[in-house]
Amino acid sequence: MKNGFINDSLIRENLENGKGASKAEIREIIAKSLAKNRLEPEETAKLLQVTDPELLEEMFEGARQLKKDIYGNRIVYFAPLYIGNKCINNCLYCGFRRSNNSIIRQTLSTEELEEQVKILEDKGHKRLILVYGEHPCYGADFIAETMKIVYNTKNGNGEIRRVNINAAPLDVDGYKKLKEAGIGTFQIFQETYHYDTYKLLHPEGDMKSDYEWRLTGLDRAMEAGIDDVGIGALFGLYDWKYEVMGLLYHTIHLEEKYGVGPHTISFPRIEPAIDTDFYDQTKYKVSDEDFKKIVSILRLSVPYTGMILTARENPEVRREVIPLGVSQIDAGSRIGIGGYTKDDYIPDKEQFQLGDMRSLDSIIGEMSDNGFLTSFCTACYRSGRTGEDFMCKAKPGEIQNFCRANAILTFKEYLLDYASDETKVKGEAIIAKELASIEPERRRLIEDKIKLVESGERDVYL
Ligand code: SAM
Ligand code: SF4
Repeated sequence: MKNGFINDSLIRENLENGKGASKAEIREIIAKSLAKNRLEPEETAKLLQVTDPELLEEMFEGARQLKKDIYGNRIVYFAPLYIGNKCINNCLYCGFRRSNNSIIRQTLSTEELEEQVKILEDKGHKRLILVYGEHPCYGADFIAETMKIVYNTKNGNGEIRRVNINAAPLDVDGYKKLKEAGIGTFQIFQETYHYDTYKLLHPEGDMKSDYEWRLTGLDRAMEAGIDDVGIGALFGLYDWKYEVMGLLYHTIHLEEKYGVGPHTISFPRIEPAIDTDFYDQTKYKVSDEDFKKIVSILRLSVPYTGMILTARENPEVRREVIPLGVSQIDAGSRIGIGGYTKDDYIPDKEQFQLGDMRSLDSIIGEMSDNGFLTSFCTACYRSGRTGEDFMCKAKPGEIQNFCRANAILTFKEYLLDYASDETKVKGEAIIAKELASIEPERRRLIEDKIKLVESGERDVYL
């Protein structure tokens, strides 16, 4: 396999041919996307080359509309939990790279892990993504063990109902162990789809220097039966237009081979990290304006794929970009090892620096003010609505029916158990508004379920 489904000359050819599309062509592509069709690479390439402000505004508007049509006002919340920062690789951009002596290496013990989970549960979190460096200590058995600890750690009404993983690619047997342990999504960022840049940033001889092993990492997850997988690129390593094309080709590959595309796409931007020069040196940093294009073009290109915006971004950028197509965000995040105890930055235990350190409650308050419906729903994965099954339901819009109801029910739980008085008021107003827009028979069903939550029942879902 020489780079498999990532064909460098084809991507370049598409990007070249994409230049100079007429207004009519761009409008046709937006219309195709609004009809909920995945775009072809030639079409996405044309959107990537748009510079006309009027057309760009139409693309942003199209992305906003598509998000509303498919996902409604919902935003799903999660938190990252860094388990260990030991690493045998030397990725030039990452604070955890093995040559970085300014980092204090630590792996959470069972007790420390339980403490972090309890703190997160106390804030109201129900979904976590566990994050690991790449190290022989963090093999599949260890990851599965930490997942089990997380699921088994309860605190009053608090429990974690979905554990996602971001770790180095595994072999099929390794993924099977995680499937056994009840994994939600396995996430791998390709970092850059551009082969030569990948080789430059991941020194030869490192585990991570094998571009193909990483590119096929999620194929092996699928073969092991994990059908919710997350792809991503780290923006700032190479030309952003090339990376968007890479993400699209990766999506198409998974769709063609497994009948279902990725569950989520992530588009982190490079951030500064302690004693790491890369951030200041890269010439590919993505401006806020281009970042908006990335998010809206991805939204338009893959209408049914969840899109994750992390707390790497500052509050202003998050406010602007979320309406363009984001379906999941993290909130109240701390990424130093043990960071939830200190509740602050721990630069010498962090991979990079976060841009949004606000609490979960304050972000939910603001998002409610802006008309978004908070969701802690984890029902799909536990009702078997994953992978192809999820997509079949998502496409006719049926998921929106389930998801909105479950968002309301999980938000109600949050408001009763964890919200500040101020956020309670804002949240109840959003729930009332959402209920008012649901047809009466369905609304009554949801209202009955809300009564169960009010009477103390938890984890109520459709
Ligand atoms: N160590 C595993 C690996 O590399 O596959 C697990 C993922 S790593 C802990 C999580 C992700 O953080 C990486 O895939 C990379 O995209 C991102 N990352 C690394 N350095 C970063 C930086 N300086 N700024 C923003 N994101 C960064
Ligand atoms: Fe290690 Fe992952 Fe950081 Fe690379 S990105 S240095 S593999 S933690």
